[in-house]
This record gives sequence, C-alpha cells and structure tokens, in this order.
Amino acid sequence: MDTPMLSIERRRQGPAPAWTPDAVLDLYAQPLNDLLLRAQTAHRRHHPANAVQQSTLLSVKTGACPEDCAYCPQSSRHATAVQAEPLMACEDVLAAARAARDAGAQRFCMGAAWRSPTERQLDEVIEMVRAVKAMGLETCVTLGMLKPGQPERLKAAGLDYYNHNLDTARDHYGEIITTRRYQDRLDTLARVRDAGLKVCCGGIVGMGESRRIRATLIAELANLDPYPESVPINQLVRVPGTPLADAPELDPIEFVRTIAVARITMPKAVVRLSAGRESMDDSTQALCFMAGANSIFRGERLLTTPNPGPDADERLFERLGLRPMPEGPAGASPSEPAEDAIDAPFAPEAATATPA
Ligand code: SF4
Repeated sequence: MDTPMLSIERRRQGPAPAWTPDAVLDLYAQPLNDLLLRAQTAHRRHHPANAVQQSTLLSVKTGACPEDCAYCPQSSRHATAVQAEPLMACEDVLAAARAARDAGAQRFCMGAAWRSPTERQLDEVIEMVRAVKAMGLETCVTLGMLKPGQPERLKAAGLDYYNHNLDTARDHYGEIITTRRYQDRLDTLARVRDAGLKVCCGGIVGMGESRRIRATLIAELANLDPYPESVPINQLVRVPGTPLADAPELDPIEFVRTIAVARITMPKAVVRLSAGRESMDDSTQALCFMAGANSIFRGERLLTTPNPGPDADERLFERLGLRPMPEGPAGASPSEPAEDAIDAPFAPEAATATPA
C-alpha cells in the first residue's frame, strides 16, 4: 500500500496541480525534523544521494547596470565599491572556463549586467557560448530580459540553460525593483522555454520579506509549467551602498526551511544553494544539503560578492561525505521522471501539506 507521501508524489505526476501560498506555508510550519525528513525523502526519489553538482559563475560584464534592483551592487543607481568593467574578451572567458573545468566544474555560467542585450552584444556572448560548449562544459548565461528571437539564437549556439530569477513574490516586487515589471520576467521565461532552453530560475530571501512572501515566491516557481530545471535559492548578501545593506538578518533555520519547501514542491529540480554561503557555517550548509540542496557555485566570487573558496568547499564535502555530481542526471527535465530515481527508504509521518 502506498504511504501517504508516495500517494502525493504519484498524484503529482498527473496534470500539474497548483501550489497555493497557503499550502506552501503549511510546509514551512511543519516541525523541522518532519520537514527535513520529507524533503530528503523527496530528494532521494529523484536524485542520487549525497551528490552535489558544481557550477562556476563568471561576471563577463560588470556593473553600470541601468536597473535598480535593491539588492544588487552592480546597479548604477547605488553607490557601491563595484568598478564597472566592459564585456570581457572571448579568450579571457575561455581561459576562465578551462580553469573551471580543470577544477571540476560541470557547468559554466556567464553573467552580464544588462537590462536587455542588444543584438550586437548577443553576438559576442554567442561566440563565448559556442566555445565554452566545445570544451565539454554545460553552459548557462544570464543577460537580462530577452526579446523575441534572442533565445532561439542562444539555443542554436549550444546554450543549455538561461538564468532569469523571479527574485521575490509578485506582491513584494515593487519594493525591490521599479525599473521592470514581474510580467516582464515571466515573458522572458516563457520565451526561453519556448525556444527549448532549460530554465534556471529562483529567488532571494532575507530582503526583509515575510514568510508569506517567501511561500508565495516558492508557489510561483513551482507553478511554472513546467517548473524550472534549476532553482537557485539565494540568501541576500547585504552589500554596503545598496538599499538593502541594513536588511534584518534572516534566521538560518528559516533559510533551511526555504530550501526544504523548494525541494518538496519541485522534487525533480536541481536546487542550488547559491549566494550567501560565505556567511553560513558548515552546520547550516549541512542542513541545507539535508533539506535537498544539490548544487553549489564553486569559486572565490559570485559575480561581485564573496563565495567560499575551493579549499573550504573541499573540506566541507569531505566533512559531510558529499561527492561531486557526475555529469548527466543534474537538471533532469521536470516533465520526465529521472531514470535513476531512488525509491524512498522511509516515509514521513506528517505528510499533510499538498498542492491544491
Ligand atoms: S540584478 Fe541584474 S538587472 Fe538587477 S541591477 Fe543587478 S545586474 Fe542589473
């Protein structure tokens, strides 16, 4: 007989049910041990246990961005220490990609601080994508909003993933960004999906939002049809000079809960423990992996903010018995069951919260 949790998982393989913010809030409210057990169980049904995918992120064009994202030190509207730099030369990007591959990265992500790339700018990025792909790395770019036809050009160049975060919930969006609308983000995401690219889309927590806002963001992500293959969950890095420099610190356990509800609501996605790791101790990161995180960024910097260095990550992996994810299953399409799905070894007693 099916356990309650397995019945829920089977139902989710039918027509995609919608997660309501209230259903996600019910998950958040579970006792931590129940939540972690449920998240780890969902994780093991769809992903190899104890394997963590590693990506490297390079800022290929830094600063001087016309957008006003309140968390971002690259906005030209905030007085931060970031020095604007033009688009990098392709050969320099390739040297960084080669070094990342040799250090064990499976995916190379390139970020440019643009509102939306021009066709000429896109030509230059396309050259980078082609060359990085030819090295045997998975490719991901984040370039801002894309116009019709641009995602198809990136796809033809061999791009695997396009990153475009929802950042926060619709109701909170105007407090964080005023230079674009939530619908603009959704429009780019739809174009990316229609072009056949895989979607990397997540958000940032710790921006002074309520738990309901966090739950609403997770519900928005989980209800994308299909939900993203890759879901970065970022903790705000409070950078001096940005409007959120003095945002209240988020309780680490609340961050862990956010990872867990992302894992439960998007069981086949790769959930990435992204910005903010530098300020987390090993115990918090261990709880995040237990909650279902299975991807990190390697390298000393994440675009312009600090990140644990490779030595720290190697020590952490050894301490926790984690291993790098082999190529292949990471980012399995949410619309197809992962072939190496591992049956749950146990089921949680409290598996009551379900999508509506
Ligand atoms: S998050 Fe991106 S779009 Fe927003 S200011 Fe920073 S670089 Fe620009």
